[in-house]
Amino acid sequence: MTQSDRSAGDSSVPHVVIVGGGFGGLMAALSLRRAPVRLTLIDRSNHHLFQPLLYQVATAALSPAQIAAPIRHILARQTNCTVWMAEAVRLDAARRRLVLTDGELPYDYVILAAGATHSYFGHDEWAPHAPGLKTVDDAVDIRQRLLLAFERAERLPDPEAQRPYLTFVVVGGGPTGVEMAGAISEIAFETARRDFRQIDRAGARVILVEALDRLLAGFPESLARRAERDLTKLGVEVRLRSRVTGIDARTVTITTTTGAETIPTRNVLWAAGVQASPLGATLGAPLDRNGKVLVEPDLSVPGRPDIFVIGDLAHVEDPRTGKPVPAVAPAALQMGRHVARIIAAEAGRAPRGHTVRPGFRYRDKGLLATIGRKRAVASLGPFHFAGFPAWILWCIAHILFLITFRQKVLVMVEWIWSYVTFAGGARLITGGARRPEPDKRQG
Ligand SMILES: Cc1cc2nc3c(=O)[nH]c(=O)nc-3n(C[C@H](O)[C@H](O)[C@H](O)COP(=O)(O)OP(=O)(O)OC[C@H]3O[C@@H](n4cnc5c(N)ncnc54)[C@H](O)[C@@H]3O)c2cc1C
Repeated sequence: MTQSDRSAGDSSVPHVVIVGGGFGGLMAALSLRRAPVRLTLIDRSNHHLFQPLLYQVATAALSPAQIAAPIRHILARQTNCTVWMAEAVRLDAARRRLVLTDGELPYDYVILAAGATHSYFGHDEWAPHAPGLKTVDDAVDIRQRLLLAFERAERLPDPEAQRPYLTFVVVGGGPTGVEMAGAISEIAFETARRDFRQIDRAGARVILVEALDRLLAGFPESLARRAERDLTKLGVEVRLRSRVTGIDARTVTITTTTGAETIPTRNVLWAAGVQASPLGATLGAPLDRNGKVLVEPDLSVPGRPDIFVIGDLAHVEDPRTGKPVPAVAPAALQMGRHVARIIAAEAGRAPRGHTVRPGFRYRDKGLLATIGRKRAVASLGPFHFAGFPAWILWCIAHILFLITFRQKVLVMVEWIWSYVTFAGGARLITGGARRPEPDKRQG
């Protein structure tokens, strides 16, 4: 008997395999805790990650353990669920098997919740010079690059030589880009002034590049303009209608209708472009241009009622707006709950799958984005507001949604501490990977 056969077992209750322990997959698993099913949750990492606060790890405000928790620990008390740290490579729908890098897993139902990652719009050669933010490793890598840039600059006596190390270019004016730019500006203009002696603070630049004519495309126009103003006040140069057309180890090229500018910089961060997990393409189902699977209203794959796709990997239209449901955490959570309800109902009934399934209805909980350490923008239905009240709401919402009680307490204490003291929580340079080359003129 193989390992996979042992996990699947031979039982009268259906075996549900979930790929991904992110927001969607984890919620599906938790919602099936009382259902007459056996669950196996597969994730290639051992932790659930609260991605909305990832930028705070990248900018050294929080430590990884404050926003990530072992999936095994979260599901420890759920006796109908087995957790495997494993990587899924494709689905063999005809044989009803999930193919892993090191085995196979039979299923009665499968829920694909493998999410998405960043895309470089066909310029994968930019990736080593412009890291994106998706995993804990990405955040720690970015944190290391940012902190090392300041360390390098501190040792260069000439402000001109310091400049490329103190120039930070964030590509993409969505929520992640806006949040990254705001947080970096505070490090560059406040923290650096206090902690470093030689750094020429006047030489620091934070540039946010966006191809559209506004930031925060999903937000109302008024909040986008407010975010732009608040970032400008923090010292960020917001470049709208600008496209990045070249990135290498020492420069970034920004192109507008009036021409191209090449800026020397050692710090380019990528917050643009999304590509769905390649697992979606192995289904043979229709995909959208970002590789998301075009699912039925019940979130199953056309012609395959035993395969569900949820979260960032699913393209589903909101029947009320006619627009695609946005790739945000609340949507993934709601989709996880929705498919769990369908499976629980069908598992408790024989034969399975013969009734009409309900369609997924997205409940829009609103949008929030923070700008620096005490400003945010909030769009909650008809209510749009900004500034400190929005920031307080942002803090409360994020603390409430953190997965463990320990994390809620730790993050709250960390935020209060850094609000009062201006001290970033985790400014540690660790490991040795991908350190920027020291400048030849370095002392
Ligand atoms: C930097 C950043 C900031 C964000 N900020 C916000 C925000 O402020 N508010 C908001 O609502 N949303 C935010 N989002 C979006 C939100 O995090 C996603 O919409 C949500 O995580 C999608 O959930 P998911 O379950 O589909 O995928 P994910 O949460 O990405 O989970 C996917 C899981 O699948 C696993 N996996 C992937 N491929 C495989 C494989 N082949 N085999 C096994 N396991 C696999 C991954 O390890 C991961 O654990 C942000 C996203 C990012 C990256």
